[in-house]
Order: sequence, then structure tokens, then C-alpha cells
Amino acid sequence: MEWHNKHNNRKMPWKGEKDPYKIWLSEVILQQTRVDQGMAYYERFVQNYPSVKDLAAAEDEAVFKLWEGLGYYNRCKNLLFTARFITENYGGKFPTEYDEIVALKGVGPYTAAAIASFAFNKPFAVVDGNVFRVLSRLFAIETAIDSTAGKQHFTALAQEVLDKENAGLYNQAIMDFGATVCKPLNPQCHTCHLQKVCVGYSKAVVNKLPVKEKVLLKKNRWFYYFILECKGEVLVEKRVLKDIWENLYEFYLVESNEQLYWDDTTVKEWLHQQLSIAEATVLAISPLQKQQLTHQLIKGQFIKVSLFSIPNNLKHHQWHPINQLKDLAFPKFINQYLNGD
Ligand code: SF4
Repeated sequence: MEWHNKHNNRKMPWKGEKDPYKIWLSEVILQQTRVDQGMAYYERFVQNYPSVKDLAAAEDEAVFKLWEGLGYYNRCKNLLFTARFITENYGGKFPTEYDEIVALKGVGPYTAAAIASFAFNKPFAVVDGNVFRVLSRLFAIETAIDSTAGKQHFTALAQEVLDKENAGLYNQAIMDFGATVCKPLNPQCHTCHLQKVCVGYSKAVVNKLPVKEKVLLKKNRWFYYFILECKGEVLVEKRVLKDIWENLYEFYLVESNEQLYWDDTTVKEWLHQQLSIAEATVLAISPLQKQQLTHQLIKGQFIKVSLFSIPNNLKHHQWHPINQLKDLAFPKFINQYLNGD
């Protein structure tokens, strides 16, 4: 909340909005649409139909025309249905209770919590991808966020840590924090307000969180291995998750869904930001390596770094003598690199 009050400058046209109709509209538009694309649609909808009653009275065709280009027309159908339902059953006034809101067609728990908290300051935590990510890192929870157990666990935790007096502001704060500070890739740990209490950061596992169960569905994966060397030893880790190469060893991994571009400067920035490593020498950045598995194409690079000392957050990791790496079982992708194939 302190970060939100002093440093949050993420702008959204619907931010601070108290009108449940407009919050609902923005949430429905954003369900499967990127913010930059959805913004213009939101503004056009609000201009043409400033209230639930206006939308309810609109011709279907006119509303569909306005929706054109957003896709997933079911959302638009539900929008119209629900606007008419509210007009008929609630006299055009948006219901104020969570249970009533979540019962509306096309409104799931996330949207209902957003409307209930933003418009009516009701104590319901929103749980979107941003919130899951922040919580999983902050508490270093390795339960997969897309598993049934994970969804239950994170939803309960989100509700537990919610500031119940200021639910609207709090929900906005944590979502914006996830989108701008605790970002999926390259979170701003070094300057983060929560760094001192962040368990993921203190254990240097931020880049492994949140865990997702459905990694196997991904066809293209980018693996960037940091070979961190210090006084003749190298950081190694055993892969323990249900994923490819289970039980084999690897170096410090940063996985990405897209290609990243590394040079001396970006590597040092990354080490500083993520692992609090202020002094390091980048010894080598390998060319792109590839390995085709049955259902996945793995591409990546190896980044060799020499450290002057081991930072506290990496002290509890496994360090192995560099001249005895042959004793460990690595996946082929790594062996290829080590053998210079
Ligand atoms: Fe997220 Fe890093 Fe802050 Fe932890 S220290 S909350 S991982 S940005």
C-alpha cells in the first residue's frame, strides 16, 4: 500500500473508477484482450452507453458492431444479456453484494471480486495471474498455480493477506505491483519495497516462481543457464519438478517464453537486480544451442560468470567443484555444451 501511494504510476482509464458498470465493462473487455487494444473499445462503449440501462436498451446489432475486432463474441452476448437482466431485476442498478454479482452471467469470481472491492470496497481479494505470481514469490510457494490445489491455496492466501478495510485500493495495489515491479521476467527485486520480507528473494528462487503444471504444453522453450563460478566451484541444482529432465542436474536456470538477448551489460544488470551481485566478471556467453525433444524445442545459451564472493541468498545452494562436474548427471542439452559439441 505504501508503494501504491508513493510510487505506483500505472495509468488505466478505469483506475479509481467507482461505477460498477464501468468496472464490469473494463473487466469483460480485458478478459481476453490486451490492455492497449482494449482501452479504445472501453472508451467507445462508455461514450455510446454510459450506463447499464443505456446498454440494455441498445440494439444487438449496434453493440456487436462496436465489439467488432475484439473476438470471443460470447463476451459481448453476455454483456447484453446481463445489462438487460440488471435492468429488469435490479431496476438498472448494479447489485452490490458479491454473491449477487458472481451470479450474473459472464461474471466469474475474479470479475466479481474486482467489482465488489473497487466499487463497494467489499473485502474480496482479486486473484489474477499478477496476484498469484506476487504471492508465490513473496512466500516462496512451489505449489503449481494452475493446479487445483494451487488455485485453492493461493485464493485462500490472497484472501488472508487482503487489507480488508481498504480492499479496493489493496487489490489495485497488488495487481499493479505484479504488473510493474514483480513482473514475470526480470522483476525489479533490487529496488523492491518487499525485498526484505520476500522469501523467494532471500532464497534466490524468484526465477523459478510461480511454478506451472502445464509447462509440457509449451512447444518452444528458452533456457538461459547462468554458470556461476566462485573459487573453483559452480552452482548446480537438481531438477525436482515434474518436467523434462527430472532428477538431472543443471546450472542456475532462467527460463523464458521468448528469446532474450544477453550481453555483458544486461548480464551484469540482471545479476545485480535479481541476485544482488554487485561485482562479477562475465567470462563468456555461448552461441545459441538447440535440442529438439519429442514435443518441445529447447533453445538457449550458457552464460559463464565469475563471482568474487557468494552472495548470502546463494549460500545455501549447492556448489560443486568445477573439475568434478563429470560426477553429476546433466541433460544432453548441457552435456553438449560442456563437451563443446
Ligand atoms: Fe517480487 Fe522481487 Fe519484490 Fe520479491 S523482491 S516481491 S520477487 S520484485
